[in-house]
Amino acid sequence: MRNKLTKLIATKGIKDEAVLNAIKKVPRHLFLDSSFEDHAYQDKAFPIGASQTISQPYTVAFQTELLQVKPNASILEIGTGSGYQTAVLLELKAKVYTIERQQGLFKKTKLLLGKMGYRPKKVIFGDGYKGLSEAAPFDGIIVTAGAPSVPKALLSQLKIGGRLVIPVGSVEQIMTLYLRKSEKEFEKQELGLFRFVPMLEDKN
Ligand code: SAH
Repeated sequence: MRNKLTKLIATKGIKDEAVLNAIKKVPRHLFLDSSFEDHAYQDKAFPIGASQTISQPYTVAFQTELLQVKPNASILEIGTGSGYQTAVLLELKAKVYTIERQQGLFKKTKLLLGKMGYRPKKVIFGDGYKGLSEAAPFDGIIVTAGAPSVPKALLSQLKIGGRLVIPVGSVEQIMTLYLRKSEKEFEKQELGLFRFVPMLEDKN
């Protein structure tokens, strides 16, 4: 089923072999409640509790391809959720820092990733709007929730040459890629419409 899903994603336009291999490897059914396993290899988003969703595999592949992850690259993920995207990044041999603002999901997913033998550098309970200054700068930052606007902190925590992949918008989001060209210059590309759960700000 996973091979079939990977082929489908390739027909939808994902070309990066390393990304396709990662999709082929990660057991997505283990990131859903066992009663919903049947849905795991459809190219669809799915509820994971706490009003959140595991992203559609195509979307995960699309964002991951845009990040251009190299082995040992340091990557910050905002929105750990189910941990599926985290696992895909780890299959690409990235050093992954991942932040989740919902405590229940944070705890559950941290445990699950450990049980499966996935070893992120850090799984953090907190607010992704702030990024993670103690581990910055990053080769790549990926936001997996819809951001109403681009958090300044995330741009400032990119290495020169680094990439931020972020869906921007409230109802629908435009997938946006920022390439850091120098200390002050960023190149921006807009790459199609998607629909994510909202990136929420903690008011404390
Ligand atoms: N990458 C996840 C996608 C989960 S959905 C996966 O593969 O399953 C998006 C997640 O972003 C949700 O779990 C939500 O709680 C989280 N989120 C929303 N706003 C956030 C914020 N400000 N900081 C950290 N996580 C946030």
